[in-house]
Amino acid sequence: MPRIPKERLARYANLQREFKEDRWINVNPIQRGGVLTAEARAALAEFGDGYSTCDRCPPKEPRLDAIERPPIAQFMQDLAEFLNMDVVRVVTRCREAQFIAFATLGEPGDYVVVDSLAHYSTYVAAELARMKVKEVPHSGPPEFRMDLNAYADKIKEVRRETGKPPAVAVLTHVDYFYGNVNDVATVGKICREYGVPFMLNAAYSAGVMPVDGKKLGADILVSSGHKSWAASAPTGILALKEEFAEKVLARSKIVGDWSNREFKLKEYALLGCTVMGAPLISLMASFSHVIERIERWDEEVKNARYLVEQLERIEGTRQLGVKPKQHTLIHIESEGLYKASQVHKRRGFFLYDGLKHRGIVGVQPGLTKHFKLNPYGLSKGKVDRVAKAFLDIAREQGLAVS
Ligand SMILES: *Cc1c(COP(=O)(O)O)cnc(C)c1O
Repeated sequence: MPRIPKERLARYANLQREFKEDRWINVNPIQRGGVLTAEARAALAEFGDGYSTCDRCPPKEPRLDAIERPPIAQFMQDLAEFLNMDVVRVVTRCREAQFIAFATLGEPGDYVVVDSLAHYSTYVAAELARMKVKEVPHSGPPEFRMDLNAYADKIKEVRRETGKPPAVAVLTHVDYFYGNVNDVATVGKICREYGVPFMLNAAYSAGVMPVDGKKLGADILVSSGHKSWAASAPTGILALKEEFAEKVLARSKIVGDWSNREFKLKEYALLGCTVMGAPLISLMASFSHVIERIERWDEEVKNARYLVEQLERIEGTRQLGVKPKQHTLIHIESEGLYKASQVHKRRGFFLYDGLKHRGIVGVQPGLTKHFKLNPYGLSKGKVDRVAKAFLDIAREQGLAVS
């Protein structure tokens, strides 16, 4: 037997989070919407054991979404209602939800039309489904606006090339580069007109801002619990309109050729059950908080605009993406901070160092010319501290601050 030394194993005991939410201001864009509520934190401890949701798995329908104690079945319905969709399943991640939709709605070799600022996982999910992508282009700097009317051209292009429409068209509601908010209804209308299933990727929107699936024309809506629903990883949301549920959530038909075993109640693309423990319960525990917080979205956007206004006081600094901000994810381009990095002994790391020294983390170490941050969920006082930290750091480097 190989033996792992005790000192090494000791490292895995008593693990501590370095940047705990109560002691640091973390502006990492992917982390703001996933900060847990007190209720979710408590639920994690209560349901931390493996398969903890399965104590009362119904024998007649042994599936996660059918469990009534804890009230998972009810939660799936409430979540569908909240998103104004018909059927919901909680899966491990937004990317898994995308993959499931691609794999069940298309065939290998089919096309998926995607916006060219889609998350990398949209591309990779299509790849695993053995499909091809056709990209909708976007404009250049500074706005990087998606050409939404081009969805029609791309659908036609696929038809010309392959003799059939794309299997799915995807629009990323809010892109992860610039935090631009797309006009979803425009694409929903095009997809309906051409009879192409329309998937909305709401990873950065649903859970932090109001999203009404049917009003936006979404046939499939996917989101990320750990990104935007104050839930633990891994949690993803796959929400469907009724007419797509049958295909996407199709039951298993496989039969063991020797044993004749069958699994007719299992939804095969979900591999039966998905998140059978604490992360799902954390999503449920934060749900009422999420319902409340989306009503305060305007205030969150106001804070983001304020932060942009402050950062743009630094010489040679501007916000990229559409202005004024409609979302809290901010992409900053700073020739000024970059210029300072060229003569600093720590090069680009001076920015990270300076922020960390002031209790702020989440801006990627080494970056100065282009970096992202997200003040979502921070109090006005903390947003002010972030702004002041940047301005102080800039002044320290001899940059002009207007
Ligand atoms: C963050 C993000 C994802 C990934 O979400 P997971 O739940 O981690 O898979 C997918 N799409 C977009 C648009 C994102 O911003």
